[in-house]
Parts: sequence; C-alpha cells; structure tokens
Amino acid sequence: SNFVPPIRSNGSNTGHTTSRNSGKNDDNLEDSTKRCMELLCGPDGELPEKLRNLEPRLIEHVSNEIMDRDPNVRWDDIAGLNHAKKCVTEMVIWPLLRPDIFRGCRSPGRGLLLFGPPGTGKTMIGKAIAGEAKATFFYISASSLTSKWIGEGEKLVRALFGVACCRQPAVIFVDEIDSLLSQRKSEGEHESSRRLKTQFLIEMEGFDSGNEQILLIGATNRPQELDEAARRRLTKRLYIPLPSSEARAWIIRNILEKDGLFMLSKEDSESICKLTQGYSGSDMHNLVKDASMGPLREALGQGIEITKLKKEDMRSVTLQDFENALHEVRPSVSSNELHTYEEWNKQFGSLA
Ligand code: ADP
Repeated sequence: SNFVPPIRSNGSNTGHTTSRNSGKNDDNLEDSTKRCMELLCGPDGELPEKLRNLEPRLIEHVSNEIMDRDPNVRWDDIAGLNHAKKCVTEMVIWPLLRPDIFRGCRSPGRGLLLFGPPGTGKTMIGKAIAGEAKATFFYISASSLTSKWIGEGEKLVRALFGVACCRQPAVIFVDEIDSLLSQRKSEGEHESSRRLKTQFLIEMEGFDSGNEQILLIGATNRPQELDEAARRRLTKRLYIPLPSSEARAWIIRNILEKDGLFMLSKEDSESICKLTQGYSGSDMHNLVKDASMGPLREALGQGIEITKLKKEDMRSVTLQDFENALHEVRPSVSSNELHTYEEWNKQFGSLA
C-alpha cells in the first residue's frame, strides 16, 4: 500500500547528482529527495561513491519505501521455529555482531533462503534478524520489481544495493524471490526480466566477494521454481514449516494476552490446537481475531447498542468462539503443497 510509482523524470533530476556537486540540478530536486540524499552523505558531506551515479528519486524510493529503520520484531515474537532461529543466529546474527571473529574459514555465507508455505513467519524472521543484529532492514517484493517497475527494475536493484552498502550492517529481504530467479527457459524468458536477473546476480556477486556486511535473504513459497544459479548463491536454505501444536498454542495465548482476553483453560487450549492442525501462523492470527469477535457479537445480539456497550459487559473468549471461527477461517495450505516442500527440503534444504 506504500508503493509509490516511479515518476517520469523531466530530465532535470536524473543521474549524476549529489547533494554537493549537483549544481543547478539541486534546485529541481524535491525537498524530500534532498533531505533523503543528505542523510546518506558521509561526514564530509559528500554522497558515497556507490550512490553518485544513481538517480536521486530511486535512492529516495529505496530510503523511504524499502528501508525500514526499525523493523520492531524480536525472536520472542516468533512462535516455534527453534531450528531456524538457531541456524540463523549462528549464520547471520553472530557474524553481523562480531565480523572480526567471523573471518577466513569462519566467514559466513551471504545468502540465505527461507522457504515454506505462506504465512509461516519468513518475513518475521527477516525482520527479527535485522532487529537482533542491529542491522538496517530492506524489504522488497521481487514480483513488484518485475510487474510495477517495468523497465526500471535494474536501476532500482542498483539503488537498493547501493543504499544498503552505505547502511551496513544491512539485511536485504527479497520476498517471492522465485519470480526474480526462476528457472524459466531462456528463449521464453522476457528480455527485460533476464536483464533484471543478471543485474541482481551481479550485485550479489559484488558483495559476496568483498568485506561488506550485507546479508541477502530470499523468501519463497515456490522453491522448486528457483534455478541452479539461485540455489548456488543462497547457500543456506531453511525450511520454515507450519507451526507445531505448541507454537499454535503460543500464538493464541500471545495475541489474546496482549488485550487481556486470555482466559482459556489448558484443556480448551489443547482442543483448539487439535482442531487447527494444518493452520499456518497467519491462519492462526486470523482465527484468533475472528474468535475474539464472538463475545462482542453475542452482546450486540442481546440488544445492547454498540455505543452503550461496556467492556465489562462482554464475556471472555471461549472454546465455542474458536469452534465457530473455524468455520470462517480455513487452513490456507493443502497437504499436497506440504509434500512438495518436504521433498524439496530433503533434496536441497539445510537439514537439522
Ligand atoms: P511469510 O513471510 O512466511 O509469508 P509472515 O512472516 O509475513 O509470513 O507472517 C504473516 C503473519 O502471520 C505475521 O504477521 C504473524 O501475525 C503471523 N505469523 C506467522 N508465523 C508466525 C509465527 N511463527 N509466530 C507468530 N506469528 C506468526
């Protein structure tokens, strides 16, 4: 929803402009663009080398829409996934916090793939990594590069890696990475998407070989679409499965407790967990939201007006509310799909 479409340039604010040496072009830059460029300038007031040949409006887009200064997710917000958390801590967080130790044979991989059904916490993990490692977080959906930034994707990719380079340590999270690095046959592949893919791989190669503190995380619900080149660069591949029964119980408790609404007995909680086998974290989230409407609907059904309703008049959320909500919120992942993930994990995943 925050997407800002690229504005057609009138020729005055494209390329080769820095806050210092841009001369008269500076007058034509929007104030917000100027502010954003100034923030990226080094202590000498100059724009870093990497950003000098990039279009200011793209740098601004990366800084304002893609860069998230405060991802605000911590490990404790994520239910279950202990294996993934452990791997990620060792592979990513420690090296970002102590680059001096993680050199030579301990030097970490720069590419991580998180794959699995939608709504299982892949994006949350990306944000938590940035939060825990005190890194700047960049989020981009690869499908927006191919669909919304037609013809400009390559430039945006350069701007993305350029800004990340100036904001190290940085985590670049590419959602739906399959749409960028898929194994489509080259003849059928659209010329522009091939160029975009090439640019992306060049940028990855660039920071892979240097001493940059940049980690690329790709997330996908369709790992089988990735080509060999993508797999080679995303050296660690972690399966992010559906939440276990304990993780589902945790999600229910965590969401309800935040609003002081958790009153379920242990037995009722266990019953809900049995009934929600196959639900993703995001399905659980939707389920709890729907169940929490139960007491409100009941109170209003008894004729109390919404404007006169007191919070104390509402009963707590019960097992019955969850049973009703189960008719509304169905699991979004089929068992066939799960099988595909498990098979791919056996073949290419980094197993425990
Ligand atoms: P993905 O990137 O795997 O599609 P997200 O990380 O965007 O999924 O998760 C979507 C929403 O689902 C989150 O905002 C959160 O509310 C809920 N969710 C998913 N997985 C978990 C989890 N493991 N723990 C807590 N909440 C979760």
